[in-house]
Amino acid sequence: MIYSTQPRHEVRKAISEVSHTPFWLDDPAKPDPKPPLTQNISTDLLIIGAGFSGLWTALLAKEENPAREVVLIEAGEAAIGASGRNGGFVDASITHGFRNGLSRWSREVATLKALGEANLAAIEATIQRLGIECDYINTGEIDIATEPYLMDEFAELVELGKPYNARFELLDRDQLYSVIKSPIFIGGIKRFDSSLVNPAQLAWGLRKACLDLGVQLYEHSPVTKLEEQGKFVIAYTPHGQIRASRVALATNAFPPLLKRISQYIVPVYDYALMTEPLTPSQRDSIGWHGREGLSDGNRQFHYFRTTVDGRILWGGYDAIYHWNNGFGSQLENNPASFSLLADHFFQAFPQLEGLRFSHAWGGAIDTCSRFSPFWGTAHHGKTAYSMGFTGLGVGATRFGAQVMLDLLDNKKTERTELEFVRTKPLPFPPEPLRSIGIKLSQWSIKQADEHEGKENLWLKLMDKLGLGFDS
Ligand SMILES: Cc1cc2nc3c(=O)[nH]c(=O)nc-3n(C[C@H](O)[C@H](O)[C@H](O)COP(=O)(O)OP(=O)(O)OC[C@H]3O[C@@H](n4cnc5c(N)ncnc54)[C@H](O)[C@@H]3O)c2cc1C
Repeated sequence: MIYSTQPRHEVRKAISEVSHTPFWLDDPAKPDPKPPLTQNISTDLLIIGAGFSGLWTALLAKEENPAREVVLIEAGEAAIGASGRNGGFVDASITHGFRNGLSRWSREVATLKALGEANLAAIEATIQRLGIECDYINTGEIDIATEPYLMDEFAELVELGKPYNARFELLDRDQLYSVIKSPIFIGGIKRFDSSLVNPAQLAWGLRKACLDLGVQLYEHSPVTKLEEQGKFVIAYTPHGQIRASRVALATNAFPPLLKRISQYIVPVYDYALMTEPLTPSQRDSIGWHGREGLSDGNRQFHYFRTTVDGRILWGGYDAIYHWNNGFGSQLENNPASFSLLADHFFQAFPQLEGLRFSHAWGGAIDTCSRFSPFWGTAHHGKTAYSMGFTGLGVGATRFGAQVMLDLLDNKKTERTELEFVRTKPLPFPPEPLRSIGIKLSQWSIKQADEHEGKENLWLKLMDKLGLGFDS
């Protein structure tokens, strides 16, 4: 394991003046919020949560049937959750990577791969068609090795992908050095089915498109309770109720409105730093003129990318679970994780020593034990949900939205017939076993990273059971 476990004292200076507003949300383009709901209304379709899941659901529902009444209701403001806080990697995979898809749905993986690619193409086409300015670029992503055993794992992945025409390209040290200069990077594997985006600008663009199509949006209107009443579901907010024929729940890692969801999801806090813009000489010292998305191949991994104004976003590594699905804005500021991230950044790029970070933030990921989304219905099919994206939902939420609409419209489609869609992850046990299991998994993951990827008995057992912990 190359990365330090204790940050050096010196790195504190680099993060001493950070803003804790997520970089993407600290943008003058942020739209003014729509007024809250203050009366009782009714609608054909109510969507709860205006992150990517809710926004795609609203847009696709309206585009398919402009006559359908669609209400989108948001506790805070659009993109305030994970959708405005993420790394902006838009991956084609809807299964949290090809390897995870292959290991869990080997019979369907070719279809899932094709559906994921079509999903990414549709996202790109929508951005172009609607003219959403969100710095969308299709540069691919490179997973990087810092130790030789990771190159062996990458080579194995190339072989696994061959029967499925999965396009992977191994990069040796020199090839990687021509992309990015770091003394600790020894090679990598490039995937071509991944793009980068400014996530908040994409979400705000989708929000505008929804409004243009007549979606009614209420912000600062938390739904506190859902109740089935005959043919309808009633959603309660502090100052008004909504009577809906159908409800799509798009609340991600937030405390769920259906109790049954809590057994499948744990909110896990992930953190990110943004640097100041690099000077031309700082940029030359690291290369990286191609704007590829990068991440390292360890189990506890970092993801990093550049922005259009020449900054570097550096996030990941720590994935922190709090007792009993702990959740709240107080958990978004974590100085210990910020220091560790900053230390790792300068280990990767010692030539940038002296560079400061301008933003440091955190957000919750809806981790489930199979790392990829799952769906379900409640209230006799009138409510549907899509969650469990586990840190790879920027692209997959659009596919999740399509499935929710299929379920709510009671439509049999290629999507709803998939085992991937029909099955659920294994549930997490209740507390205290939940915390104990997660702690043990995290410790074991650290051990694996420190011992050339070798998994201990606990991780092997979890793998056998199809249970896992990831971000
Ligand atoms: C730090 C971080 C980095 C990440 N990096 C990446 C990445 O690079 N690539 C990637 O693919 N994925 C990444 N992810 C994950 C990705 O951001 C999510 O999977 C995706 O944004 C989920 O979208 P969503 O709409 O389901 O959830 P959210 O964006 O969290 O939206 C849920 C919305 O529901 C609202 N809500 C909740 N409860 C209620 C209620 N009761 N009433 C009304 N509204 C409610 C919330 O206010 C929120 O706006 C990252 C996540 C984090 C936190």
